[in-house]
Amino acid sequence: MYAKNSWKKYQEQDHGVEDVFAFNELYKDFITKGKTERACVKEALSLAKQAGFKSLDEYDQLKIGDKVYVVNKEKNIALFVIGERPLEEGLRILGAHIDSPRLDLKQNPLYESEGFALADTHYYGGIKKYQWVTIPLSLYGVVVKKDGEVVDIVIGEDENDPVVGISDLLIHLSATQLDKKAAKVIEGEDLDITLGNMPLNNEEKDAVKASILKLLKEKYGIEEEDFLSAEIEIVPTGKARDYGIDRSMVAGYGHDDRVCAYTSLKAILDIDTCRYTSCVILVDKEEIGSVGATGAQSLFFENTIGQLLYKMSIDSFIKTRMTLENSMMLSSDVSAGVDPLYLSVNDKKNAAYLGNGIVFNKYTGARGKSGSNDAMPEFMARLRHILDKQNIHYQTAELGKVDQGGGGTIAYILGNYNMQVIDAGIAVLNMHSPMEIVSKVDVYETYQAYKTFLKDA
Ligand code: MN
Ligand code: MN
Repeated sequence: MYAKNSWKKYQEQDHGVEDVFAFNELYKDFITKGKTERACVKEALSLAKQAGFKSLDEYDQLKIGDKVYVVNKEKNIALFVIGERPLEEGLRILGAHIDSPRLDLKQNPLYESEGFALADTHYYGGIKKYQWVTIPLSLYGVVVKKDGEVVDIVIGEDENDPVVGISDLLIHLSATQLDKKAAKVIEGEDLDITLGNMPLNNEEKDAVKASILKLLKEKYGIEEEDFLSAEIEIVPTGKARDYGIDRSMVAGYGHDDRVCAYTSLKAILDIDTCRYTSCVILVDKEEIGSVGATGAQSLFFENTIGQLLYKMSIDSFIKTRMTLENSMMLSSDVSAGVDPLYLSVNDKKNAAYLGNGIVFNKYTGARGKSGSNDAMPEFMARLRHILDKQNIHYQTAELGKVDQGGGGTIAYILGNYNMQVIDAGIAVLNMHSPMEIVSKVDVYETYQAYKTFLKDA
């Protein structure tokens, strides 16, 4: 169905709206727990195991109906349900990213100034810096000690935990600051978090910092130098919440792209049989270019396909590549929802609306589609066909008006294997802010679309 409000469909079904709301309770739980890549992988793994998925290592030989997972460096997970057709005929892949914009602690973060202990950060991904000051923030991540011990740190998520934050100038003294451009009002180097204000007794120099270090030593057994091998992410504090007094939306941190990650994950967890092998891959580093060992550009995925074939008694590089070429993929990533307060940035006919179902972006990119995947119309036609048959609502959109801005996804990277790929995901308001918004009905409709894709495409 083309551009129809999806609430109406569920309002006309028995328990339709209840089903939508119930699904979103599961999703809210997932993003509340999954505030980092590692946390998302942990949560996805636990859900996969509950659904009967087993590690690839546990299989000697793969057969139809087997449910398999592979974890890469604690930051990627790939899941497969082996289909009836030979793997070389291709997979049906849902690919989403589980990294979200945030602030990372620098490697030498700690310092003291004017009686405060502070920590330097370097922001990750595209953010409007002024959105990240004067809000409660949590510290979330790992410190790896020289002996290899991995210390998990979560401060701020339990309601009895303290929170941290970034200060901003009081309005009374902001005459100079308010004359600056919005991009410069808060500078990257000023996104420093406040850790404490109480000096260590009998300490002369940097006594507040010393007190923080003592506390870290006591609670986590870590030294200042251990930050050299740490990955601490500063993320907005608190649970995902219902948004709007009608509870029709979800407010939370990290919908981009954990909302597509969760709906993709849930789609494969709820599948038992499929014609072509189903796959969900959750990747890291999308917000900074999909680079590195855990990003979509990594050979991890290709290697994993090679391993699957190997466990089907096929040991062939060429067949690995042909398997990928014969595959189809939805690049499960969010799209920019139309904001009623900022209508001028969209071409209304080609914009995504909250409540109208899954969004297809044939292309993203910026300045003349640059950097985009630009999907084949033949592929889009096939998707229209299978979705219409199931009465699943979808809409098509561009990322704003031509020359207004733009963005990228992982679509083109998997497209390099010569497979069919299109961006398909959920419309988001306030994208990349500490409080992003999605429509509950889009979350549910996208889950339905992903499941249909895995089964019918
Ligand atoms: Mn994204
Ligand atoms: Mn993004």
